[in-house]
Amino acid sequence: MSYERIKFEIENKVAYVGFGYNCDKSMTVLDEQTLTELRDIVEECHQKKKELDGVVFHSLKKNCFLAGADINLIASLKTENEGAHGAEQGQNIFNRIEDLPVPTVVCIDGVCLGGGMELSLSCNTIVCSDNPKTSMGLPEVKLGLIPGFGGTYRMPRRVGLPTALDLILTGKGLDSRKAKKVGLVDEVYPKENLVKMAPKHFGGSKKKQGFKDTIEHLASDNFLSRKIIFQKARENVLKQTKGFYQAPLKILDVMEAGMMKGRSSYLASEAQAFGELCVGEQSKNLQHLFFLMESSKKYNGPQSEGELPVLKRGAALGAGTMGGGIAWLMAESDMAPLMKDIGPEALDLGLKQSSSNFMGKVVRKKMTYDEFERKQRSITPQLDYSGFNKVDLVIEAVVENMDIKKSVFAETEKHVPETCLLTSNTSSLSVEDMSTALEKPSRFAGLHFFNPVHRMPLVEIITHSKIAPETIEALYNWCLKVKKTPVVVGDGPGFLVNRILMPYLNEAGYLLIEGVPMKELDEACLNFGMPMGPCRLLDEIGIDVAVKVAKIIHAGLGDRAESSDLSQQMVDKGFLGKKSGKGFYIYDEKGKPTGPNEEALAILGSARKKMSETDIQMRVFLPMINEASYILDDGIVKKPSDVDLGLIFGIGFPPFRGGLLRYADGEGLERIYKAIEKFASEVSANRYAPSPFLKKLVDDKKKFYDL
Ligand code: NAD
Repeated sequence: MSYERIKFEIENKVAYVGFGYNCDKSMTVLDEQTLTELRDIVEECHQKKKELDGVVFHSLKKNCFLAGADINLIASLKTENEGAHGAEQGQNIFNRIEDLPVPTVVCIDGVCLGGGMELSLSCNTIVCSDNPKTSMGLPEVKLGLIPGFGGTYRMPRRVGLPTALDLILTGKGLDSRKAKKVGLVDEVYPKENLVKMAPKHFGGSKKKQGFKDTIEHLASDNFLSRKIIFQKARENVLKQTKGFYQAPLKILDVMEAGMMKGRSSYLASEAQAFGELCVGEQSKNLQHLFFLMESSKKYNGPQSEGELPVLKRGAALGAGTMGGGIAWLMAESDMAPLMKDIGPEALDLGLKQSSSNFMGKVVRKKMTYDEFERKQRSITPQLDYSGFNKVDLVIEAVVENMDIKKSVFAETEKHVPETCLLTSNTSSLSVEDMSTALEKPSRFAGLHFFNPVHRMPLVEIITHSKIAPETIEALYNWCLKVKKTPVVVGDGPGFLVNRILMPYLNEAGYLLIEGVPMKELDEACLNFGMPMGPCRLLDEIGIDVAVKVAKIIHAGLGDRAESSDLSQQMVDKGFLGKKSGKGFYIYDEKGKPTGPNEEALAILGSARKKMSETDIQMRVFLPMINEASYILDDGIVKKPSDVDLGLIFGIGFPPFRGGLLRYADGEGLERIYKAIEKFASEVSANRYAPSPFLKKLVDDKKKFYDL
C-alpha cells in the first residue's frame, strides 16, 4: 500500500516508518490522515511480521520527529464522548505498536512532544540524536489536558513514578542528555548515525537499571511509598497552581487510581479524563491561548515595500534597571551590544545586572560557564558614542524625561548609520512627540519592554504617524528572534498594558479608602488568578513610578483615569514599595514581604467596609474591560487578541481565563455592561463611564471575539 503522509519502506527485512513525508510545514503533527495511515501501517507490520526483523520509526523532517497531536483536531472536539473516543483511537494504534511481535525502535531527532512522545513510549527501544533541537516531553497539561494516548500509563513504567509525575505534571521538555540520564532514552547517537544504528537495538536492548532507577522503581512498587509520592505531588501542584488548574489534579487522580489496573482498564480511565478535560472551559481557554501565541509568531502588520533592515549589532542607551536587562538580551542573542551611560557606576550596575541574568542560566544548567564568559564579555560598556557607526538597532532606556530623551535621540542620530533603527523603552511618554526630535522619524519606534527584561515576555512595539512599515516589521521579527512576544500598539497614554492596568491599580486605591482591608483586596485578586494583588503589584512597580505614570494617563484620558491621592501620600512618607523596604508591605533585605506596613495603613484611618470577594473582583476587573473597549475603539490595537496577549504576557493575567476579553465574552457582555452602569451610578460616574464601543457590542448582540 502507498501512503501520503508517512513514508513506509521495507529494506533488508527492516520496516522504516518515516514521519514528515510530503509535509511543507516546519512541524509534523499527528493529524487525522497521519493517524489513519499510521494505523494501517502498523496493521501491515503485524501482517508481515514473519518477513520482518524489526520496525524503525523515524522522521524525514529536519529538527522535528512529531510535535504531538494536531491541536486543531483537539479544538474541534465538541463533547466528552467525542474526546474520549478520539483518545481511544490513538491508544489503540499505540497498543498495536506495543503488541508488535517484532522489535520496535524509535529514532528521535528534533522535537518529540505529546502524541509523538506517547508513540515513542510504546516502542521497545527509544534512541535519540545529540541535536540541540532534540526535545522530548508530554506538554498536554499546559493545554489543560491529560496525555490521552497512553502517556500517563507508559511514562511511569519507563522512567519510574517520581520522574514521570514531574514530567507529566509540569509538561517540561528534556534534551537528549537529560532524557538519557532519567532513562527515557536508551542511547544517544550523532544525528547522522541515528537511523543507521536503530537495527542494532533489535537484540532487545531493554534499558539497564542504574542504582537510582532501581530505588525509584522499588519506591513506586511499594503501596505506602506510592501513596506518599502522590501526596507530595498533589501538594506541589496545589502550591504551584494555587488549585486553579484542573488538569494536573485530574492527572493525579487517574494515575493514582490506576496504578494497579491492567492496560485496557487504565487506558479507559485516561481516555475518559481526556474527554472531560478537552471540552472543559479551562482547556478551551488554554487552547485559545495556544492559537493566539501561534498566530503572534507571524508578522501580520502593515506590509513593507522596501527591504527590511538587518539587525545584527545592537546598543543600549542607559545602563539602569532596564538598560542592563536590554544589554543582556542583546548579548544573549549574539548582538555584541554597546552599552552607553553617563557615569561609570551606572555601567558597573548594568554589567552586574547582565552577569546575574547569565549566572541564573549557568546555575540552571542552561548555559556553560565558557558561554557565559563569552557573552558577558561581548557587552562593551562605554561613556561615548564610539562604535555607534556600526550599530543596527539602538534601544534607549535613559530616565523617563521627554527633554532628556529628545536630546539623547538627536545626538545619537548623528552617530549611527542611516539604516539603524532607533527605539525608546519609554513606559509613558508620547512616541509621536519623541519622534519629532529625529531627522528620520521613519526608522524610530517605541519598544516597550517590561521589568525584569529577562523574565517578562511581552514587548509593545509602539508606532507613530511617520513610522515606516519596514521598521515595524523588522522590530517584530527581531522580538521573535530574541524569544519575546511582540504586540504592535498605537501611540497613546499608557499604550496598551499600562493603560488597562491603571484602572485596576486606581480602583484598588479607592477600595482601600472606602475601608476594604488590604489583605482582603489582594486576596480577592489572587483568588481570581492574578499572580499578585494590586497592593503588592504597586510595591513591585514602585509607588513613585506608578504615581508618575498615573498622572500621565490621567492627563491623556481625563476624569475616567483619575486616581485617589493615596499613592501620593505614600510617596510623601517615603513608602516607595519594595525598593525602599516599605510600601503597602514591609520587605526584608532580600526583597521578601514580611507583613503589612501598618504605618501606611494608618493613612487610611479606621474605616472598615465588608465587601464580598466577587464584588471586590468586579470593582477592579470591570474597569479594565471597560478601558480595553475604549482602547479598541481608539484603534490603539486592532484585535481583542492583542489585548489578551498583552495582559497575559505583560502582567500575568490568568492564562486559564484565556485573557481579559475572552473572559468578558464568557461572562456575557450584556451582564458586564449592566454592572459597569451600576457602578457608574453607585460608585463613580467618571471612573465607570461606560464605553460606547462596549454598548454597541451589547446592542448588536456581539462578543469581542466576533470583531
Ligand atoms: P534607571 O533610572 O534605572 O536608569 C536610567 C539610566 O539612564 C541611568 O543609569 C542613568 O545614568 C542613565 N542616563 C541618564 N541620562 C543618560 C544619557 N543622556 N545617556 C545615557 N544614559 C543616561 O531607569 P529605568 O528604570 O531603567 O528606566 C529607563 C527607561 O525604561 C524609562 O524610560 C522607563 O520609563 C522605562 N521603563 C522602566 C521600567 C521599570 O520598571 N523600571 C519598565 C518599563 C520601561
